[in-house]
Amino acid sequence: MANENQTKYQLLPHCATHASELIIVASCDGASTVGQIGNEVARRLTKTFPDKVRMCCITAVSAGSETHLNIFKKAKAVLAINGCQLMCTSNVLKQRGIEPTYEIVVAKEGVSKLPSLDFSEEDVNKIADKIVKEFLQKFLNQ
Ligand code: SF4
Repeated sequence: MANENQTKYQLLPHCATHASELIIVASCDGASTVGQIGNEVARRLTKTFPDKVRMCCITAVSAGSETHLNIFKKAKAVLAINGCQLMCTSNVLKQRGIEPTYEIVVAKEGVSKLPSLDFSEEDVNKIADKIVKEFLQKFLNQ
C-alpha cells in the first residue's frame, strides 16, 4: 500500500515531526481570486521545494489545535500568505503569539480582489517568484 501511495501521491515530510527543518507556510484560502491565488502559491512552493517548504493547516491554528500551533512555533521560519488587506493569516498567527518571518498580501501586488474562484497562472507565478526572491532564496541553498 505504501508503494502504491508513493507513486500516486507526492508524499511530504510530516510537519509535526520535521517542523524545525522546514519553512512552514500558512495561506488564507479566501473565497476570492486573491485568496485562491494565495492557496495555489502555498501549494506550488510546497510541491516545488518539498524538503524545505511545507504548507500547514492555518484553520487548525484558528480552531485552537495545540499540535498545529506547535508546528508553527517550532518552524525554521514562518511564511504567511494573505489574500487581501484584512490579513487573516497573519492575524490568526499573531493572535496565537506567532510572528511571521515573512508576510505578503496578494491584493497589494497588483492583483484585483474579485468575487471569483478563478485565477491566472501568471498571477500565481508572479507572487511565487516574489516570495522566492525576497524570502525563500536564502534558505534554498542551506
Ligand atoms: S485575508 Fe482576505 S481573502 Fe484571505 S480569508 Fe481574509 S478576507 Fe478572505
